[in-house]
Amino acid sequence: MTVVTGSADGPVLALIAGTHGSEPSPIVALQRVRNELDPLTLRGTVILVHIANLPSFVHRTIYRGPWDQKNLNRVFPGKADGTASERIAYAITTQVIDQCDYLVDIHSGDGNEALRPYSYWNQLGLDERVDVTAREMALAFGLDHIVVDRGRPRDPAATQFCSNTAHVRGKPAVTTEAGGVGVPTEEMVSCNARGAFRVMRYLDMLPGPKETVERPRWIDPSVVLTSPGTGTWYPAVQPDEHVSEGALFGRLTNYFGDVIAEVRSPLAGVVMYVVVSPAMSEGEPLGMVGAVTVAALPA
Ligand SMILES: [Zn+2]
Repeated sequence: MTVVTGSADGPVLALIAGTHGSEPSPIVALQRVRNELDPLTLRGTVILVHIANLPSFVHRTIYRGPWDQKNLNRVFPGKADGTASERIAYAITTQVIDQCDYLVDIHSGDGNEALRPYSYWNQLGLDERVDVTAREMALAFGLDHIVVDRGRPRDPAATQFCSNTAHVRGKPAVTTEAGGVGVPTEEMVSCNARGAFRVMRYLDMLPGPKETVERPRWIDPSVVLTSPGTGTWYPAVQPDEHVSEGALFGRLTNYFGDVIAEVRSPLAGVVMYVVVSPAMSEGEPLGMVGAVTVAALPA
C-alpha cells in the first residue's frame, strides 16, 4: 500500500487494484498514480492498494486465489482467522475501508475475459446520500456504460464484494471495469489512471475542472450467462457487440470438438464482456449482456 497525505485536510479516498490478480491494467495504473500524485496540491489522503490479491497476482490465477480457491471479491468482509482470501478481505475491511470516506475498486476483465469498459453503480437503497454520491463518482470516473446493480447484499456481516462492503458501511463506492485478457494496454492503463484523478477532482481533493460523463448509457437489466456444462468454449460474440434476444452467444463442445450446447442471449443488449479462452467448467461465467437505456437517470 501507498498512503499519500496531502498538505491540506480533506477526505480519505481508497483506490484498490488487483482484487483479481490477473487484471493488470488497474495495477499498472495505480503505479502511475503513485508517481504522478503530488502531496503539495492534494487535499486529504489517498490510500493506494496496489495489488490487493498478491497470491493471485504472483501465481497468475484468474477469479480465485491459489491457496483456498476462493474469489476475494465474494468473501468480504472477511475473517481474521479465515483462509488466505478471507484474511486479505478482513485486512482490507479493517485497514482500508474502515479508514476511508470513499472507495473505488478498480477491475478489468480477468485474464480470460475480453471486456468493453464500464462501471457498476450499486443502487443499494439503504442511504440515499450514499447511492447518489456513488452514482456521481461513477460518472466522474468517466466510463460511459454504467451497470445498475440492485442485488448486492445489505447484511454488514455478509457484504461479499469489496465496494459493497464500503457502501453498506455508509461510504460511497464504485467498482470499475476497464481492460482485459491479462494485457495492460496503454489505452486501458491511462483510462484507469485518468479515472482515479477525475474522482479526486470530483471530491475536491485536487484542483482543476470537474469532469463527468455527459451522456451515460445505463445498463439495466443485465445478465451474466453461465456455462451449462464443462468442455471447450467457442465464443460467437465480441465485447461491445449489440445482440438480439436469442442471438448465438457461443458454443460449448466436448473435448473432441463436438457441440454439446449452444448458448443464446436471453435479452437484447450490448455484450459487456465475454470469455475468450477455451477452458470452461459448468456454472462458470461465459459473459454478460445488458440492455442499454440512454434516457433519464434511474430513480
Ligand atoms: Zn475483477
